[in-house]
Amino acid sequence: MSWFKRENGEYESVATSPEEAAERRVRTEGLWVKCPGCRQPIYKPDLESNLNVCPKCQHHFKLPARRRMDMLLEPGYELVDQGLRSTDPLNFHDIKPYKQRLRKAQEETGLDDAILNAVGQMGPHAVVVSAMEYAFIGGSMGAVVGETIARAVDRARLERKPLIIVAASGGARMMEGVVSLMQMAKISTALAQLDDARVPYICVLTDPTTGGVTASFAMLGDLNIAEPGALIGFAGPRVIEQTIRQKLPEGFQRSEFLLEKGFLDAVVHRRDLKNYLIRALEFMRA
Ligand SMILES: [Zn+2]
Repeated sequence: MSWFKRENGEYESVATSPEEAAERRVRTEGLWVKCPGCRQPIYKPDLESNLNVCPKCQHHFKLPARRRMDMLLEPGYELVDQGLRSTDPLNFHDIKPYKQRLRKAQEETGLDDAILNAVGQMGPHAVVVSAMEYAFIGGSMGAVVGETIARAVDRARLERKPLIIVAASGGARMMEGVVSLMQMAKISTALAQLDDARVPYICVLTDPTTGGVTASFAMLGDLNIAEPGALIGFAGPRVIEQTIRQKLPEGFQRSEFLLEKGFLDAVVHRRDLKNYLIRALEFMRA
């Protein structure tokens, strides 16, 4: 009988019966999370009251789209462009039907898809904000995400309000095949029109921002800023290592590395993000 099992070089006691395992889960479930940054346990309410940033090591956990809106906008903002749902154009099945994945994600997040649009005030500025939801099928971009973001861009252009997009995405949604890839062109075109109209656009890249999202709107901001430690890239590190057969440098594809290489304009701590955006918008308006 094994009493301990080694996992990532650490010991963890093993429950001796399924009943004991279940009981342990019930007792602790949802109260503590282990920080991937400092490996310390964090009391969940402490984490939540700290904008999902580890109070010990400042590791930035993912932030749900709705909480992102609450954090960036003044109370009384309005959610817009809601009610769009994927039609599953390819009738796609992998290990389970795409329709079933959609239903589950909708139930778990309370959203129609991996995106929320809002209009409201950010300090003194009337803005349009579009925030992605990673918990909805990895924040992947299908037709609904693409259309919703394109509507935010058009709204910003027509109402002449600065646009902020908060990216959090594993990339294009493969279950929608080429339809998902078309969203890159659609959003980029709308952003070009926004640029012609001289309305500011700031992209905030959060952990993770990868694939077709990085390859389109996430890198097209007048300012591209990121949260600390976010994974940002096109292909993932494993794919690149296997392709070029070389070990990648430490911190490759993290915000700080990309800032140093000139891909980003700034890395901003989540608690400073709103003030940073307000100041940037003041500067752009002048
Ligand atoms: Zn930590």
